[in-house]
Amino acid sequence: KQSLDKGLEKTKTNFFTKLTKAVAGKSKVDEAVLDNLEEILVASDVGVATTLKIITRIEKRVAADKYLGVEELNGILQEEIAALLSESNTGDATEFVVPIATKPYVLMVVGVNGVGKTTTIGKLAYQFKKAGYNVVLGAADTFRAAAIDQLQIWADRVGVPIVRQEMGSDPASVAFDTLQSAVAQQADVVIIDTAGRLHNKINLMNELSKVKRVMQKVVAAAPHDVLLVLDGSTGQNAFEQAKQFTAATEVTALAVTKLDGTAKGGVVIGISDQFQIPVKYIGVGEGIEDLQVFNKYEFVDSFFK
Ligand code: GDP
Repeated sequence: KQSLDKGLEKTKTNFFTKLTKAVAGKSKVDEAVLDNLEEILVASDVGVATTLKIITRIEKRVAADKYLGVEELNGILQEEIAALLSESNTGDATEFVVPIATKPYVLMVVGVNGVGKTTTIGKLAYQFKKAGYNVVLGAADTFRAAAIDQLQIWADRVGVPIVRQEMGSDPASVAFDTLQSAVAQQADVVIIDTAGRLHNKINLMNELSKVKRVMQKVVAAAPHDVLLVLDGSTGQNAFEQAKQFTAATEVTALAVTKLDGTAKGGVVIGISDQFQIPVKYIGVGEGIEDLQVFNKYEFVDSFFK
């Protein structure tokens, strides 16, 4: 929670300063306050559609209560945003727990280069290992040599096995080998890195579906989750990437990184709502410990406190 507060400091300061200004000298939440709030939410990258949903929710509260004091606005915002996030099934977990009973749990990770995909995989491997799980990594981003090497560095750092082949080899083949190796050693968790190219959508789509198909020869239900990693500091780009990846493959979970580097952490709320996909993890720094299980209550608490 402490690192979450620190990670969201810029967002909070930005939001708070503006909100304080918006309600200065006011006693009740009126139309002018709501107009300002709308602007502030949009400026925090919540997105227009989600902002309007939030404002509508607040308006209903104002209408129901007849009078809403500005000092209540913060608490009500927290409640309504948490309620909204429930609709995208964004949860209230706090621990790194594998969501299925059978092993191995197969997590396929997608996202464009530079968003923090490798770092997130490394941090996840660390957390799952710390929680007592046996983890295996698969370097199926075979498009760039650096991607394989970077993942190797994380595997060594965390102390988990990695399955890799040469650069340029078939990603599906790497994924297949990884799952076979994981099954043979009765691993609990498999995390598969995949290539992050978006410029050729058909290729990406074909590649991801081939990786899935081939993995299913080893583990019928694989992948149990497809985690899309998005850079939270890129605002509208993150929305655009979510749009493209959800069109290319079935994304079941989101990780939003680099929230420590932005004043616009509201992107987490907007993306989860707009795509109706749960945010599972957030990145709040470059260190190995700086990945958190996303908890909407803790998040809104940090955001508005
Ligand atoms: P990839 O190309 O998507 O695999 O990206 P990398 O994992 O190599 O990360 C790109 C850069 O972003 C690296 O310098 C990471 O240290 C940095 N990074 C990743 N996640 C976070 C985060 O949550 N906060 C900050 N501040 N930096 C991050």
